[in-house]
Amino acid sequence: MHIELCGNGNEIGRAAYLVSDSKSSVMLDYGVKINPEPPQYPLPAKPDAVVLSHAHLDHCGGMPLLYRHGTIPAFMTDVTLDLTKLLVEDALKVGKKQGYNTPFGVAEIKRMVKNAKLVDYGEQFRAGAFSGKLYDAGHIPGSAGVLLKNEKSVFYTGDIQTAESHLLSGCTLPKRADVLVTETTYSYKNHSPRIKEEERLVEHVEEALAREEIALFPVFSIGRAQEVLLILEKYAHKIALDGMAKQASDIIASYGARTKDSRRLKAVLRKINWIHTREDRLKALKRHSIILATAGMLGGGPAIHYLREIKHRTESKVLFTGFLVEESPGRNLIETNIFKNAEEKFHVHCELDKFELSAHTDRRGLFHIIRKTNPATVISVHGERCDDFAKDIEQEFPGIQAIAPRNGDTIRI
Ligand SMILES: [Zn+2]
Repeated sequence: MHIELCGNGNEIGRAAYLVSDSKSSVMLDYGVKINPEPPQYPLPAKPDAVVLSHAHLDHCGGMPLLYRHGTIPAFMTDVTLDLTKLLVEDALKVGKKQGYNTPFGVAEIKRMVKNAKLVDYGEQFRAGAFSGKLYDAGHIPGSAGVLLKNEKSVFYTGDIQTAESHLLSGCTLPKRADVLVTETTYSYKNHSPRIKEEERLVEHVEEALAREEIALFPVFSIGRAQEVLLILEKYAHKIALDGMAKQASDIIASYGARTKDSRRLKAVLRKINWIHTREDRLKALKRHSIILATAGMLGGGPAIHYLREIKHRTESKVLFTGFLVEESPGRNLIETNIFKNAEEKFHVHCELDKFELSAHTDRRGLFHIIRKTNPATVISVHGERCDDFAKDIEQEFPGIQAIAPRNGDTIRI
């Protein structure tokens, strides 16, 4: 057996790992790297099947490319399919608007949806010559770690969170795997205690409301928007929700079983203000609201509109709650107080802050996953410090071989 890294080697974006034996090959994820622009896709491949871990663009954004010349089964959970469709259709629109030549169209998206095979956590399925099983990854609703087996077993974490949140229970793991392919987003640090971060976030919001100012949260539409809504549920009537987070919240609420407490989420969604028109946006800005708007890294979406409107208000706040990838406008803003994209550049005078409510586990959690799955080989991917983490693993776990491959590398297992 071997694994070819088609993307995500020592970088974050365009996850794509091709697991093959002599009879067949199965792609794990097929994402897109959207920062820096223009988007970059994984290396081309012709697998016999694909398994999708979750609906974030860096994992699913290249999926339609696998349907340019034919059809293959795509295994995923139900909510992952609906959310992926939402994301790739939007990416197509964004591509047109920005003038990128998106290498797929509506026909490929349709073929992907038609060939989706919905599987539940724990349910066994057959992908090529491999048997497969999904494990709840605790990252976003519907997210999954993937176990592929024939002569050897490979467990791919996807994006994973060991700890529980308001929205989700933590991940579940297989008892053992010969090879662990693990994300390493936060391999270099441990998160601050979550409860402290939530208290700090609420304090910021209360301060903004007391000043009769705006608290703007640029949020990822899937997962983070709903988590922040639950943290701020007692202020629900003051919250305005804008951008793709609205459709994503609707889809997630409709798959109640994929969240920890669907009634609680539905109750918050009923109380908040949904932004549909220009007038709604003006009202939200006048009403000193808590505004949740996509995109989480300020790569597009209405969050930029609100930021532009409040940029001179020193008493307003811009609060980030998710990972800000290198070279993203969000990361640049928090480091320099300057917002910059292809079209505009301006100074932001608001108070800026960042909270650790990550949907990715930390260094401690990654070590826990390695201990639990007890692999002979660990492949360190999806991070900015994959090499360092591979060295750390070999030190912490004598006997385990750890590798941080580059895109295009093939690892024999
Ligand atoms: Zn993710």
